[in-house]
Parts: sequence; structure tokens; C-alpha cells
Amino acid sequence: MSDRTILVWFRNDLRIHDNEILLEAVRKADKVLPVYCFDPYYFQQTASGNFKTGSFRARFLLEAVADLRKNLQAYGAELIIRIGNPSEIIPQLAAQYQVNEVYHHREVAHEETTISEEVEAALWKMRLNLKHFIGHTLYHKEDLPFPIKDIPDSFAVFKKKVERDSDVRPCVPTPGHIYTPEITEAGELPTLQQLGLTEPVDDMRAVNYFQGGETAALIQLKEYFLKIAPAVKSKGRNGNINNSSKLSPWIAIGCISLRQVYWEIFKQNQEGNAPGAMLKLELLWRDYFRFMFKKHGQKFIKTQKTEEEGIVSTANEEGFLKWAAGKTGVPYIDACMHELNATGYICNQCRQIVASYLVHDLKADWTKGAAYFEEKLIDYSPASNWGNWAFVAGVNDAKESKYAIASMPQKDLEAKSDFVNTWQSSPKDEAGDLVGV
Ligand SMILES: Cc1cc2nc3c(=O)[nH]c(=O)nc-3n(C[C@H](O)[C@H](O)[C@H](O)COP(=O)(O)OP(=O)(O)OC[C@H]3O[C@@H](n4cnc5c(N)ncnc54)[C@H](O)[C@@H]3O)c2cc1C
Repeated sequence: MSDRTILVWFRNDLRIHDNEILLEAVRKADKVLPVYCFDPYYFQQTASGNFKTGSFRARFLLEAVADLRKNLQAYGAELIIRIGNPSEIIPQLAAQYQVNEVYHHREVAHEETTISEEVEAALWKMRLNLKHFIGHTLYHKEDLPFPIKDIPDSFAVFKKKVERDSDVRPCVPTPGHIYTPEITEAGELPTLQQLGLTEPVDDMRAVNYFQGGETAALIQLKEYFLKIAPAVKSKGRNGNINNSSKLSPWIAIGCISLRQVYWEIFKQNQEGNAPGAMLKLELLWRDYFRFMFKKHGQKFIKTQKTEEEGIVSTANEEGFLKWAAGKTGVPYIDACMHELNATGYICNQCRQIVASYLVHDLKADWTKGAAYFEEKLIDYSPASNWGNWAFVAGVNDAKESKYAIASMPQKDLEAKSDFVNTWQSSPKDEAGDLVGV
């Protein structure tokens, strides 16, 4: 009898640890064929002129895929890398390697699920099954105390019930040796240029450098408990907006799972090392947005309020362009946007303040702001980004939700601070000071 082979289609789960599809494939098959596709869809320029993926995130992703390949090799396996449409690539590879089944993690946002459906349909024509796993959330969908359709729209109620009635599952074990079929052409990692992007220029003012990959994610988790969390414990979170974990870029593409973070918090708390309550709460916010997408679908981010609700979105194109370039003339807003443009990352408070300013002060179209963040953010995640933006704009269906948006009095927006002084000029104005220029 011939070997049973399972193709593991990596997407936003670029890790070996706590990865159920990899573990299950190793358990259920003689050979595992790990595959990653760089789908050109995610690197195109949209009609509004934005790239779907900016160069900081693309570089981070390339590093993460390279790290995954290296880590798989350490387990005896090899990662096949291709550039192309997954609905063509996955069936081609399935035929070439006589695959018996394909595993992947289920996504939630419209574009991602459409791609899964296309792959599923193409595989189905070959009588092959695409098996869906749930692996992106902290709480497993099956363990929630309510069916998806009854998930409370209020975050406070969601949190209370989930924490009272559900448990976070333990992380799944890491597989031992992984056997792959003999691979004729594993494929090279593309360059940014091949993806249609230019090399990002690192700005000397950046406080964080994000290196893609599971290896760096695990280091960041350790660093958080070693350096950042003790500072939060002594000063409190609000004292310093830079005291968050900075794990979001790795979480977004699954270099680390929410469960890994959660169980590390648990361990550290048991050892009396650090407070994890705040971080645990933030992880729950991420789950909440994802489950809201699951419950409401695209309705959750409907673009307009109805006339009765009062329309918020108008086309202040000029205002939007000034906002994006950090040229509004409001020091704090411009500093945040300069930091975003120069690094791909700004803290949660800055995100809330600039989003709120675009929507409520400039009265510009919030979807343009969300699309701009989609290009620029190194940690872009569809449910987290569009969900947060929709909340700021007040347009989604979660009407009962009490979401406190950070706002800043005008005097503070105008005031000079160390942060504003550091980021008072845009990355281009600073060209002479940029690393590599
Ligand atoms: C307009 C707007 C757009 C946003 N877009 C994104 C996005 O595309 N991707 C993204 O990961 N986060 C997004 N956020 C949420 C939040 O700003 C970031 O998750 C956070 O700043 C990441 O930094 P951290 O890892 O240090 O967070 P921490 O405070 O250390 O939190 C730990 C983790 O919890 C999750 N988390 C924290 N706050 C939120 C939140 N409000 N919503 C959802 N998840 C949360 C993240 O995964 C984060 O890494 C957005 C917020 C706003 C207001």
C-alpha cells in the first residue's frame, strides 16, 4: 500500500509549536507536505491606490516564512514555497505529490474565506478534501458558552460569560520528526521586488524592530516578561503607552498563538513574576473582534450609518491625504502618522486617536483610513483592523458595545512632548538621517 500524504497549507499560522494542523498531519499521515503560497492578490495595488501589503509587513512576512522553513528543516521536513494563486498551486502540488488530503486553518474575514472556498472547490474536482481546523482564537469556538449566532455584541457581556463558563485549551504538543516526500523543487523565497515592492527604509527613530518568525516571537514573549511586564507592574500601564507587549505582528501571522501567550501569562503569574491581567484582557479583545466577524459577517463593517443614525462618512479627500501624510498641522496626529509611515507600528492609543480624528474631526471616509492601515500596519489583521475602525466610526451592528475610544483634548493634541518632538517630521523629510540612505 502506498504512503498516505497530507498537504499542510500554511497561511496565518507560521509556526511549529501549538499548531494543530501540523500535529494532526504528522499523526494521520506517513508523509507531510508543508506549503506556503505568496498569493499576488495580497501584494497588488487597489483601485484607491493603496497596496494591500506595505513593504514593512511584506519584509516581516518573508522573514517569517524563511524562519518557518528553517524550523521545519530542523524537524527533517522541507517547506515548499510558491508564488501564485493558491487555488491553482495547492491542487497542482496535491496532484504532483499524490496527496490524500489538505489541511488548513479556517479564516474569518471575507477575502480569506473566499480564497479557502476557491481552493476547496478546485480540490473537490479532484475528489480531495480540504479539512478546516480552528486555530486562531484564544477560546475554541466549540468551547464558547453560546452558539456563534448568540455571541453577545457587548464586549463586557462576552468577557464575563466566556471567562466564567469557558476554559482555554492547553497548547497542542510539538510534533517529533516530520517526514516529507522527496521534494524535487522546494522553491526560493521571493524578493520584495518580485512581490512588486521596494525595500523598506528603517528609521533611526524607531523604538521597536520587528523581526519576522516564530523564533523571534518566542524571544519577544520572553522579553515581555523579563523587561516590559515588571515595568508595568511598578508603574502601571497608563503611565507609559509603550508598555504593551508588541506581540501583535507575530500574532497576526501566527508565529505565536494566543494560547501560547495565555499559558505563559498563567505560568508567570503562578511563579509570582508579573501581572498578566491586562495582557489577558487584550487577547480577549482580539477574540471578540474575530467572533463578531464570524457572527455578523461583512455586516459588521457596513460602511455607512443609515440616514436616521446620522451619516458619518463623507468624502473629505483632501483631509484624508493630509492625515495619511502626517500634514494635518495638529502635532500629535502628525507625529503618530509619521511614526506609522516610518515603522509600520503605532500603539493602540495612537491608533484610536488618529482614527477618531479622521472620522470625527475631518469627517473623512473611515474605510479609506482602514485601507490605509491595512497597507501600513506590520500587524494588520482583517478582523482586528476593520473591527476597530468600524467601532471608531460607530457603524457596525454591535450597538450595545461600550467601546471606550481614547480621545485627547485639543490642548494635548497641540502640545509638544518628547513623542511629538521625535516624530515631528515625516520619514521623507528626515531622508538624510535614515538608516541606509
Ligand atoms: C483603528 C485601529 C486599528 C487596529 N488594527 C489592528 C490590526 O490590524 N491588527 C492588530 O493586531 N491590532 C489592531 N488594533 C488593535 C491594537 O491597537 C493592537 O493590537 C495593539 O496596539 C498591538 O500592540 P501590542 O501587541 O503591544 O498589544 P498588547 O496591548 O500587548 O495586546 C496583546 C495582544 O492583544 C491583541 N489586542 C490588543 N488590543 C486589541 C484590540 N483593541 N483589538 C484587537 N486585538 C487587540 C493583539 O493581538 C495584541 O498583540 C487596532 C486598533 C485600532 C484602534
